[in-house]
Amino acid sequence: MFPRLNLAHLPTPVDCLPQLSSFLSGPELIIKRDDLTGLAFGGNKTRKLEYLMAAAKEEGANLVLTTGAAQSNHCRQTAAAAARCGLRCRLVLVGPPPERPSGNYFLDTLLGSEIIWTDKEARDQVLEGVYLEAKKKGEKPYLIPYGGSNARGAYAYFQAYQELKDQLADQLPDWIVFASSSGGTQAGLFLGSKLLGGPQVLGISVDQPAAVLQETVQGIAQDLCHLLNHESEISLQEIQVTDSYLGQGYGILNERDRQAIHIFAEKEGILLDPVYTGRAAGGLLDLIHKRFFEPGQRVLFWHTGGTPGLFADRYQADL
Ligand SMILES: *Cc1c(COP(=O)(O)O)cnc(C)c1O
Repeated sequence: MFPRLNLAHLPTPVDCLPQLSSFLSGPELIIKRDDLTGLAFGGNKTRKLEYLMAAAKEEGANLVLTTGAAQSNHCRQTAAAAARCGLRCRLVLVGPPPERPSGNYFLDTLLGSEIIWTDKEARDQVLEGVYLEAKKKGEKPYLIPYGGSNARGAYAYFQAYQELKDQLADQLPDWIVFASSSGGTQAGLFLGSKLLGGPQVLGISVDQPAAVLQETVQGIAQDLCHLLNHESEISLQEIQVTDSYLGQGYGILNERDRQAIHIFAEKEGILLDPVYTGRAAGGLLDLIHKRFFEPGQRVLFWHTGGTPGLFADRYQADL
């Protein structure tokens, strides 16, 4: 449907989590390893970039622009995808700039991207300015949306849902649980579940109030639904989001995040990240503790990547 480049190692593995499941004495847990998509430490943005970079190439771009936090996994994967495709990459990162490059920001520099620092309020305006300036200079810029989350990016997760169905056939779980933020991942998985049938999809918000994230996901899913030639109307209530685990906000590690990271590492040898998957896993453990899942249900945790964040100076001291 959309043109696609081959950047990711697919299908990503699905593994059992036997020690963790028995430690928690809750539902049987399995995991989908999108931290292993293979592009410069991988993560969920790699799937989206297969479509977004294809669009950039098709438009004849020689430069991609995008934006994110200092420790953005999206920006790191975009920088890697640009290198792989022979395009330049300019990143607008929300500062202040750290004292020295570490984690994802270090990798951005290693991958040869140019970095422009801004503050949160000015972010979109600065990005727009960088875009217009590039055009004026005769460059051919392509703007990759925040988090890679538009219908095209979300289509990658519609495909990923199909990939999971093909992998597990009659062994599908009852629930898919994962970290949700700019909404593209959830829009794709949600639409997969709605149109193809299968597990329920629960996004654990890492930064937005549920009502805000639901609306974002609904908008992207509705766009994609029309592009797929389905007439279905998507209601807000169908989009399942919990915002019970935001703590002090985006990127501020709390005790629940920290414990989840330690438990996954110690029980299964699986590394989570301090911003997204640690928070989502903390939520999952709490939901299990509160008996949110019914007896006998099976739950798949979709690992969305982010592990370079473990090496960021700002998180290492607190982990
Ligand atoms: C971006 C990101 C997410 C959230 O995905 P969205 O599609 O933006 O909702 C989750 N986990 C990690 C590690 C990410 O980098």
